Amino acid sequence: MAKGLRWGIVGATTIAREWMIGAIRESGGEVVSVMSSDVERGKAYARENGIPHSTKSLSTLLGKDIDAVYVATTNEKHKAQTLAAAKAGIHVLCEKPLALRLSDAHQMVAACKAAGVVMGTNHHLRNAATIRAMRDAVAGGKIGKPLFARVFHAVYLPPHLQGWRIKDAKAGSGAVMDITVHDADTLRFVLGEEPVSVTAYTQQGGMGGSGIEDGVMGVVRFKSGVLAQFNDAFTTRYATTGFEVHGSEGSLIGTNCMTQKPVGDVVLRDASGEHKLEIKPENLYVRSVTAFQNAVRGQNLSSPPQPAATGEDGIRSMALALAALKSARTGREAKVEAGLVETGL
Ligand code: NDP
Repeated sequence: MAKGLRWGIVGATTIAREWMIGAIRESGGEVVSVMSSDVERGKAYARENGIPHSTKSLSTLLGKDIDAVYVATTNEKHKAQTLAAAKAGIHVLCEKPLALRLSDAHQMVAACKAAGVVMGTNHHLRNAATIRAMRDAVAGGKIGKPLFARVFHAVYLPPHLQGWRIKDAKAGSGAVMDITVHDADTLRFVLGEEPVSVTAYTQQGGMGGSGIEDGVMGVVRFKSGVLAQFNDAFTTRYATTGFEVHGSEGSLIGTNCMTQKPVGDVVLRDASGEHKLEIKPENLYVRSVTAFQNAVRGQNLSSPPQPAATGEDGIRSMALALAALKSARTGREAKVEAGLVETGL
């Protein structure tokens, strides 16, 4: 059996060009075809990225003897494309947010389950060595009882990405669906528990179009009582990203770690002083693709390996983001209701 999977790329996108095509190849996979809604753009994209085929038709892509699709179109398209792939018996690694409505995300996960195909959500940050080191430290009791977390994820949206994200509400624009979903997943992953409610305020700082937030700040309450504050934005040119967890016996301070690049440091501060955690940087997207591939290869085992983030993880991150938007809209605390029974952690 070949080491890697044969992939179809759904969407001639920046994320695929900058990270995922390389990650697929680095994990031994093959990019067979790309689908674009524009024939000429698709052809040019295929040529520039060394992809043998391009097509405007999803069914042509799905008929191309592929094992998996990477769905990375704008957010409103993920659902139909995932359902079509599942129907064709093709595994799906889908970008976040999975969809615009929770019921759609549930449908996507259910369809993949019914078809017996693996579904993953491409939450890259749980693949970061820094984030994994913090999860291990929390689980290993290094900071005692976790009390607070802080997520610093305000960035500057580069000019080449200042399109649908800040202009097109129908495509699922805004900082919350774009960035807060990642915070939600990372918080759940590091703390190892589920959020209960959230209070958030959104901001229009001059970049987002009419009614589209380009910044947000909020507080999440977790089941155990941990409080987590988060700040996400498209508008801050000079901010530093970070992730902190403060516990009864110590604090974890991750700097420059809410990013696509394998960079950043984590310091553990406790009664014995300050210690830099050992971090072995690894390409986040290669790790995500490799985990997905392993899940596909192991799908017939009784206890199957999972993708780094499952479809259920994608539902849960969306649930928190949607609750944050509801809180900002209503001015009240909003419950986080993913509609899932068992924990995905
Ligand atoms: P892009 O803006 O690059 O692409 C989105 C869509 O826009 C494409 O599907 C394409 O349509 C169309 N498009 C692209 N370039 C052009 C152009 N020059 N002219 C006209 N239309 C164009 O999206 P991103 O790569 O930024 O994001 C795609 C998805 O990935 C989103 O769901 C996003 O949330 C997610 N994402 C995830 C990240 C992660 O780290 N997990 C990071 C960044 C994004 P067509 O395909 O029909 O050609």
